[in-house]
Amino acid sequence: SLSIGIVGLPNVGKSTLFNALTKSGNALAANYPFATIDPNVGVVGVPDPRLNTLGELFGSARILPAKLEFVDIAGLVRGASEGQGRGNRFLANIRETDAICQVIRVFSDPDVTHVDGEVSPRRDIETINTELILADLQTLEKVLPRLTKEAKQNKDAKATLEAVEAANKVLDAGTTLYASGLDLAPLRDLHLLTAKPFLYVFNLDADELTDDDLRARMAALVAPAEAVFLDAKIESELVELPDDEALELLQSVGQEESGLTQLARIGFETLGLQTYLTAGPKESRAWTIRKGATAPEAAGVIHTDFQRGFIKAEVVSFDDLVAAGSMASARSAGKARIEGKEYVMRDGDVVEFRFNV
Ligand code: GDP
Repeated sequence: SLSIGIVGLPNVGKSTLFNALTKSGNALAANYPFATIDPNVGVVGVPDPRLNTLGELFGSARILPAKLEFVDIAGLVRGASEGQGRGNRFLANIRETDAICQVIRVFSDPDVTHVDGEVSPRRDIETINTELILADLQTLEKVLPRLTKEAKQNKDAKATLEAVEAANKVLDAGTTLYASGLDLAPLRDLHLLTAKPFLYVFNLDADELTDDDLRARMAALVAPAEAVFLDAKIESELVELPDDEALELLQSVGQEESGLTQLARIGFETLGLQTYLTAGPKESRAWTIRKGATAPEAAGVIHTDFQRGFIKAEVVSFDDLVAAGSMASARSAGKARIEGKEYVMRDGDVVEFRFNV
């Protein structure tokens, strides 16, 4: 499944945030049969109020939200691309993730030292981006001699070479590939770090959470990438509290939604994901697919056999189903459609698959 790697300089609150993710994931895992718990992976549920509505409509015994995985990638320090710290291991771990979430320190606690002496979000972002950019430049440098040779005989290699040269220029100028607007398709096989989608978590002091000026300045540092604002310490407290007390704590710092919830939602968008829904007396559940996935691909998320044996899908939009009040009424109102192999799923489709096994 898709995952987001969490990176950041030391002492910015990564472990604090990651522990909160893990705690929230463990609570979630209790609902998922066969969930494995990997110490480096934290899981958050993507909140979806539609699931509660379906749960009521179908009398579901449980509600299972879509999940998003975060991987703790320790070891980013200045010089990581030169092998400092856990250098190469760090880069290998980050290569396996589908998006990069940078945690940036904004909180100013005199008891927590900053590796560079003072808190500066802008400089930290530059430090991290520089390491990732240098790592990508090394990757390109390695493939250039072979590509240059191949490009003399082979048209495809020539196109790749041109893309690599363009990427080299962008990286040399200190820009990440994701932000550059280059066509990254010819570079896909190189698994370049800065070609992954980025998102940013700004770790604030509690009283900064409501500081709109500060938030706007931070958001501007990373635009067009998305920014999430949270207080990692508060997040780690929230996951320990029962729902009503958690809500009280959130409201006391002027928030309606936990940072983890925002992170899950924005992470989902950054990865280009959407959900479809299944509902019944056993469970109402959201399943994760890429935008543009077809009905058989969506079925494959439940079980690979469902994709292989796919016959058709009965689909009703969430809104139509709720308006009709039941699956039977939706059918008799002609709102339930039978869709075949070519059908491209829409967000909020409620689906029943028919398949051969
Ligand atoms: P990491 O090195 O990035 O994993 O950072 P840690 O999560 O270990 O945090 C380093 C120190 O900063 C710890 O003492 C945390 O308790 C503290 N810390 C983390 N987040 C916050 C925060 O939002 N506010 C404050 N005041 N301290 C924090």
